[in-house]
Amino acid sequence: MAQGTSTADGQGGRDLRVAVIGAGMAGILAAVRLEEDGIDVEIFEKADRVGGTWRDNTYPGLSCDVPAHVYTYAFARNPGWSHFYAPGAEIQAYFQSVADRYGITPRIRFGDEVTELRFRDGGWDLATASGHRDRFDAVVAATGVLHHPNIPDIPGLDRFEGAWFHTARWNHEVPLDDRRVGLVGTGSTAVQIVSALVDRVRTLTLFQRSAQWVMQSDNKTYTEADRARYAERPEALEASIERMKRTIREGISAAVIDADSPQLAQIDERCRANLDTVVDPVLREKLRPDYRAACKRLIFSPDFYDKIQRPNAGVVTDRIVEVEPTGVRTADGTLHELDVLVLATGFAVDRFVRPVHVIGRDGIDLDTLWADGPVAHLSVTVPHLPNFFMLNGPNGPVGNFSLIDVADAQLGHVRALLGLLRSGAVREVSPTPEALADFEEERRAAAARTVWATGCRSWYLDRTGVPATWTFSWERFRDEMGSVDLAEFDLR
Ligand code: NAP
Repeated sequence: MAQGTSTADGQGGRDLRVAVIGAGMAGILAAVRLEEDGIDVEIFEKADRVGGTWRDNTYPGLSCDVPAHVYTYAFARNPGWSHFYAPGAEIQAYFQSVADRYGITPRIRFGDEVTELRFRDGGWDLATASGHRDRFDAVVAATGVLHHPNIPDIPGLDRFEGAWFHTARWNHEVPLDDRRVGLVGTGSTAVQIVSALVDRVRTLTLFQRSAQWVMQSDNKTYTEADRARYAERPEALEASIERMKRTIREGISAAVIDADSPQLAQIDERCRANLDTVVDPVLREKLRPDYRAACKRLIFSPDFYDKIQRPNAGVVTDRIVEVEPTGVRTADGTLHELDVLVLATGFAVDRFVRPVHVIGRDGIDLDTLWADGPVAHLSVTVPHLPNFFMLNGPNGPVGNFSLIDVADAQLGHVRALLGLLRSGAVREVSPTPEALADFEEERRAAAARTVWATGCRSWYLDRTGVPATWTFSWERFRDEMGSVDLAEFDLR
């Protein structure tokens, strides 16, 4: 824990140039906050638009299962959200509008991927795919977590005569109405797609490797009167946001880190009651997970069990053996004939800033530093990479709280460290290897108590089976991010 802390306030001293990599939720946030601090920021975005995950994902049914008002920047509240859980396109439009309104868009270098970062003489040399070169005092990597699609190596996929694609690369040219659609995977993405598609397609076949616990959650539509009230009374909106956050903190954040908590028992009970609404006992048992609720990321849906009981929907639990030109062959010998095959198979979650080639002090590169898996001190900084900061980096609270709050709190920590550089007192700041080792030891020990470690396969687990998440409380996260323990840093 941070003891004997001091918080740098960044008064006076030298001017800084900071590169922000990625113009998604966290990159826009960083750009706005750092510019507010008077820091000269340049944002690099390999795509041609802002939005990150909300730009890449356009699948039918896409929405955010964090309440819209909670998934909103603190400095740019949006009284106009249409629903309690906002649709993806609305969220994308929100990020675009914030980037425009706060003058960030013109500062973004679009369509040019950062390929290399090399630390030299107290700063970072940055190179992009187009050959552009620049130099910065510090780098903020806001490159996302769920970014690189996981395409499973299913034999025969390339021989499929219908259309196939990953959910994060949805092909909107492919007609779906009245088609036979197969969906591989049963995560949050697949569940939203089932709800959106089943009434449009001829048949919907869900290929389920593992069943999922699903929590019933209605999606209220905000009326014009609701929206007008929030616009006229920002303090009422703020109070309502605070109540929602408290509910999430007390109901979910506290539950996931303590497998014996009464909150987790309650979640379990609610999921079981939801599953009990499935009428056909055979289907119900197919859909029953053999692990605890919230071990995999909990799924929230207003109507998944309702929709999966439609007569044109089917759940296939036999293992996929191969894809043939006309469909998917499963281990029981059945050929499931399909026109469209959608892979809702998730993401490669251990990439973080990579494939950018990051070379730190004394020529040490990030791939070497992370040979045993990605780690970062308090999930933000990495030994041997001075003045390099990560938002939503390794082992952070990806499954605990709203990622906007997470990134904003982490940014508070980053701004305090940048304050040290701006003060002129130091030119290089990075955590000591010892501080990271202590943090990791404690984090991994705490992981044993969490629900993620209760016996399921999930993207939360690292290659050794230990949850790659923040295994402590929200309060601890807030406190750690709100201060800097100088003893944990190598300052030069
Ligand atoms: P995911 O949770 O990682 O689920 C991937 C699914 O694909 C799992 O059911 C997995 O089965 C299955 N799968 C993977 N490889 C397979 C293979 N070779 N054969 C058969 N099945 C295979 O991915 P996701 O649904 O895209 O969600 C990822 C994360 O994105 C979520 O956990 C959440 O954090 C975020 N998300 C959020 C929202 C939101 O509303 N906020 C919406 C969508 C996504 P196993 O379970 O057996 O591994």
